[in-house]
Amino acid sequence: MRIAVIGSGYVGLVSAVCFSEIGHEVISVDNDSAKIAALERGEVPIHERFLPELLQRHLGGRLRFSSSIAQAVQESDAVFITVGTPQSETGEADLSFVEAVAYEIASAIHSPKLVIEKSTVPVSTCESLRKTLLLNGAPSGLFSVASNPEFLREGTAVTDFLYPDRIVVGADDQFSVALLQAIYQPLTSGDYYTQSHAIPHPGQFHGKAPLILTTAKSAELIKHASNAFLAMKISFINAVANISEAVGADIQQVCAGIGSDSRIGPKFLNAGIGYGGSCFPKDVRAFHAVAAQCGYDFGLLGEVTRINDEQRRRFVKRVRSALWTLRGKRLGVLGLAFKDGTDDIRESPAIGIIEALLKEGAHVRVYDPAAVPNAKKALSSDRLSYADDSYDAADACDALLILTEWKEFASLDLPRLKRLLKYPIVIDGRNLYEPSRMASAGIIYHSIGRATGVPDHLSEIVQPTEMELPVTARDFASGAASAS
Ligand code: NAD
Repeated sequence: MRIAVIGSGYVGLVSAVCFSEIGHEVISVDNDSAKIAALERGEVPIHERFLPELLQRHLGGRLRFSSSIAQAVQESDAVFITVGTPQSETGEADLSFVEAVAYEIASAIHSPKLVIEKSTVPVSTCESLRKTLLLNGAPSGLFSVASNPEFLREGTAVTDFLYPDRIVVGADDQFSVALLQAIYQPLTSGDYYTQSHAIPHPGQFHGKAPLILTTAKSAELIKHASNAFLAMKISFINAVANISEAVGADIQQVCAGIGSDSRIGPKFLNAGIGYGGSCFPKDVRAFHAVAAQCGYDFGLLGEVTRINDEQRRRFVKRVRSALWTLRGKRLGVLGLAFKDGTDDIRESPAIGIIEALLKEGAHVRVYDPAAVPNAKKALSSDRLSYADDSYDAADACDALLILTEWKEFASLDLPRLKRLLKYPIVIDGRNLYEPSRMASAGIIYHSIGRATGVPDHLSEIVQPTEMELPVTARDFASGAASAS
């Protein structure tokens, strides 16, 4: 199959490379000419496992890059749209990038095409896309539109694409169904997985990728509802963690108890500093706006966002309480990316927290294995510096903060860390350690939804109020809980 993928970002580039990997002829398009030039040289602009080797494998063979939408459309049977759909000022999805691409696709349709929205869009966007293509000169008999939302996660994007939990195809005519089934056939038949060069699956896989066939509107709803549900799970467990913290329970044990109910399951029950990234925050707000446009007040989604925003402020409050004041304090920070395995800092809780700490006068020395180049473009302060590794970040600091769940942050040499820190204080927004283990290493360890780990010899100077720091009912009444 000849495929064009319009937009070469996290989703577009991974999709283009993986479509080549499963045997298709692909043209990947972007209007960022510097990005296209770098990709043509074989340089991968994002941090994503397996992407460099797959790009090398297919570049110049089944995979080409271009800045021309018209050329890519003319030389393809299927055209995937994978441009950004950011949040607008009103909370709705801003579809102007999709619309701009649609204008260009329309004038390039001279033979049968399937135009597929892969970007995350509100329900009924397929209808608008079809109308826009028609209005801009695409002959009605020569094209169909379909929805094929993407569920990959940054950090594991390539394996998520090649070994999906499900492929959702929202198509309202037989031409679209047949074409999309053919595109994904190497995954749905399992043929790809038997090939010697196949990218290995990191866990268990049942041999064939399931494909869910539905209407375009249902597919669009599946994507928004999935992301909103996952965000809700995170906000729910963070709210429970706050109660756990207030009463002295252990959120990890609570999660194990909740998650062992097969109706709930253990995944996505990690208490922390909240969700971030380019999808959940905007998709929850966009889905909330979609509901409002349909005349339904989906207040639950507003709460999901509110709890998430509050979680970052609670963390800053916790740092402030652990250190008494922040002005002039030197803080080591581990993590900038919104999650491990990626260099993406869009809506990262770590960025918001670092900004709040800088605003309060702290000096921040931060380390992240992949996201520093992106952070340098987003953060600027003469009190912010970048460390070479975790120990360099911790050196002579008043406290060390953990803000991203990179695996390497979960296996630090604790005696070395204690020697380097000015005060042995770790404040972990990702619950990477057992409090008792940190305490045994002589470190005061604050985490989310659990009692503070306190070394025996410090139990007299770390008071229970410093350990628990619940946001009290009075804080809420006075509005203090929402002050950063
Ligand atoms: P991104 O910002 O990384 O990439 C978008 C790309 O589109 C950019 O390279 C940009 O230059 C390009 N672009 C914009 N306008 C263009 C135009 N007119 N012509 C050609 N190229 C153009 O975005 P992303 O993270 O890949 O997300 C894309 C879509 O996929 C969004 O709707 C997002 O919600 C959805 N999505 C993202 C993820 C994720 O984890 N990032 C997962 C699933 C779905």
